[in-house]
Amino acid sequence: MAAKHILACVDFSEYSTRALVEVGEYARANGSKVTLIHVSDPQAFVPPQAILESAAARDETSHEDALAKLRDQHLADVEVEVAVLADHAPAKAICDYAEKHGVDLIIVGSHGRGGVERWLIGSVAERVVRHATANVYVVRL
Ligand code: AMP
Repeated sequence: MAAKHILACVDFSEYSTRALVEVGEYARANGSKVTLIHVSDPQAFVPPQAILESAAARDETSHEDALAKLRDQHLADVEVEVAVLADHAPAKAICDYAEKHGVDLIIVGSHGRGGVERWLIGSVAERVVRHATANVYVVRL
């Protein structure tokens, strides 16, 4: 059964942005709407230009702009919304957003800004898998 509304979780690491290639392919094939979501910790603000690895994105001034740029790069011909939430608990914010907005598929990368050193998938990804009421697809990177 194809998902109608996909929530793609972006932490601006190369892992989450690589996952958008798969999101684009799936959404185009199935006519799905995509929301790109980033949760930023209000007490530990890190501007996206400091973590985006793409040189082209270094002049971005906001998380919304950075998400819009990813939308343009990876999700042409797809209906896309962007959502930036301020919350210190990203996994919970993602799960709550998904429930409230009728999301039927959440996409996370297996790793994020912490890199691949950790033995299992990252903690945000793991919490989303455990607590989301929608299906979750973990893109193995
Ligand atoms: P982590 O669990 O931090 O290793 O990250 C795994 C994946 O969770 C990333 O590839 C993103 O898809 C997602 N993710 C992590 N942190 C955030 C965040 N602050 N906002 C949105 N998605 C996130």
